[in-house]
Amino acid sequence: MVDVSEIFRCTRCGFCCHGETTVSLDQEDRSRMTRALNMSESAIRKKYWRISGKSVQMKTVDGHCIFYDKGCTVHSGRPHRCAQWPLHPSILDDENNFITISESCPGIKKEIG
Ligand code: SF4
Ligand code: SF4
Repeated sequence: MVDVSEIFRCTRCGFCCHGETTVSLDQEDRSRMTRALNMSESAIRKKYWRISGKSVQMKTVDGHCIFYDKGCTVHSGRPHRCAQWPLHPSILDDENNFITISESCPGIKKEIG
């Protein structure tokens, strides 16, 4: 079994939590986050989520996810796409995906490409 720390160690640079948009939350993500925050979904929708039609994202503040504060403050309730990053399965299918993701994330050891 591969030891993940051999190919990735987060430097906590925060790059993946920055930007004016965030990942989208599916129903499972929303339920997990609601449990982790121990708040009602209606309160979370108002305080933390940006809802546009069927799309639910996290709000951003000062160019980063509302939960970012030198690290993820909703760690156990973070969306699955955040938990998966940067070891997205697509990096195994296509070297270009690996290059793109590894250029964004300083935690990936480049020599495994
Ligand atoms: S971009 Fe990579 S190294 Fe930086 S915080 Fe995100 S996962 Fe960690
Ligand atoms: S939920 Fe956490 S890991 Fe995901 S973008 Fe926000 S701060 Fe980053």
